[in-house]
Amino acid sequence: MNNKEMKQLIKNARKYSRPFRVTDDHFRLKDIDPGDTLDLTSEDKPRAKEALANGIQVLAELQDMLYAQDNWSVLLIFQAMDAAGKDGAIKHVMSGVNPQGCQVYSFKVPTSEDLDHDYMWRCMKRLPERGRIGIFNRSYYEETLVVRVHRAFLEKQKLPPDLVTKDIWKERFQDIRSIERYLLRNGVLIRKFFLHVSNKEQKKRFLERIEEPEKNWKFSANDAKEREYWDDYMDAYEDMIRNTATKGAPWYVVPADNKWFTRVIVAAAVIDALDSLDLKYPKVSDAKLKELAAAKRDL
Ligand code: ATP
Ligand code: MG
Repeated sequence: MNNKEMKQLIKNARKYSRPFRVTDDHFRLKDIDPGDTLDLTSEDKPRAKEALANGIQVLAELQDMLYAQDNWSVLLIFQAMDAAGKDGAIKHVMSGVNPQGCQVYSFKVPTSEDLDHDYMWRCMKRLPERGRIGIFNRSYYEETLVVRVHRAFLEKQKLPPDLVTKDIWKERFQDIRSIERYLLRNGVLIRKFFLHVSNKEQKKRFLERIEEPEKNWKFSANDAKEREYWDDYMDAYEDMIRNTATKGAPWYVVPADNKWFTRVIVAAAVIDALDSLDLKYPKVSDAKLKELAAAKRDL
């Protein structure tokens, strides 16, 4: 890919991802349609797939510079209801990047060791190293989602009772904003993705998991039971996004009823993020150039 093509792709990436970027508290979930595909129809699907393939190539080139420069790290956080396509989006979007420069971690129900610490502890241990792209498949944001919807999780956290007041969610949002600002000031660029699937599409995907034998392993009866709390989750997501979307660490609320579209938008947002870092290969010093010339003579 030549420079001109790369520039054009980066421009397109910005155009497609910006409509879904949230940077302040004006966000309303009902303004995002999970079935949205912008100006792309299902006839454009092959073209979208090609765009994704090209996007992945651009991403690989940017990642190579990120790694060589070794100053910034990039943290991508994925949150979603079950079956929204987190795993698939991560798999496809990162398919072209060098595995050595990529670190993925999935956060599950906290272990007893986790519960013996503050909730950030387990996440801070998994932050990407400089030059790397880190992916959190779920994250500390669960602390304002599942833990808010199911108070029993909060009770297991062994917090001093006086610290658990009605302001706890507001305080968690404040702390998360502060930590993300701290990380940015230390060279960790954060982008957050909420893959927004509709209730109806989730049901369809659960039924597929039941009906198709090779998808059976993905089905959990508990996931289906969580559907009872759908509205509580949506309220929690909306409040979380409003309170933690910032210019420095924006949320992307990505329509997730069409997997091909979700993947294009996530790839586009990651390209836009990497491009914002103005990455360059490290400049070689005169001494190093002399060394290279000498080595060439000797070979
Ligand atoms: P998949 O089901 O696609 O493999 P997943 O991310 O749903 O991926 P699971 O092992 O099914 O993985 O689920 C992880 C579970 O852990 C989720 O239900 C999530 O809500 C829960 N979880 C994550 N973080 C916390 C937390 N801090 N407190 C309580 N529960 C949490
Ligand atoms: Mg699950």
